[in-house]
Amino acid sequence: MLYTPKYIYNDDLDKKICKCSECKKYRILYCHSNMIENKKEYTKEINSDIIAVCSKCGSTYRFNLKHLSNINGDNYEVGRVNFIEEKYPQIKENITKNYNSYDVVSIIKSENFLTKLIKDDRDGDLKTSEYVFMEK
Ligand SMILES: [Zn+2]
Repeated sequence: MLYTPKYIYNDDLDKKICKCSECKKYRILYCHSNMIENKKEYTKEINSDIIAVCSKCGSTYRFNLKHLSNINGDNYEVGRVNFIEEKYPQIKENITKNYNSYDVVSIIKSENFLTKLIKDDRDGDLKTSEYVFMEK
């Protein structure tokens, strides 16, 4: 099961991405993820390169996010954050170009996103997936 959230919430993160005072969540425009699942121990690690927009002030950011998940819950660590200065049409064009540059194993359609599975490997209890998704 691929993890493709529509929003990321500030309350979940170890640090705020947008500095505006009312920022609560970010809408994901683009996300490239590497996921390792351990089926036996029910753990998951997802490393993502994300482009998301603050739902309050509309500022757009590109950042790394490490998501660790186990039976005790979820932990989100924000890595390097870059503010994106381009306007939305330019951002969207770059996202589409990125998205199209990946070779595809399969395409998954959902309500909010176009999702491309790039890699899907299984080694014993370990399942490795690489995928990219972008907002429609
Ligand atoms: Zn903001």
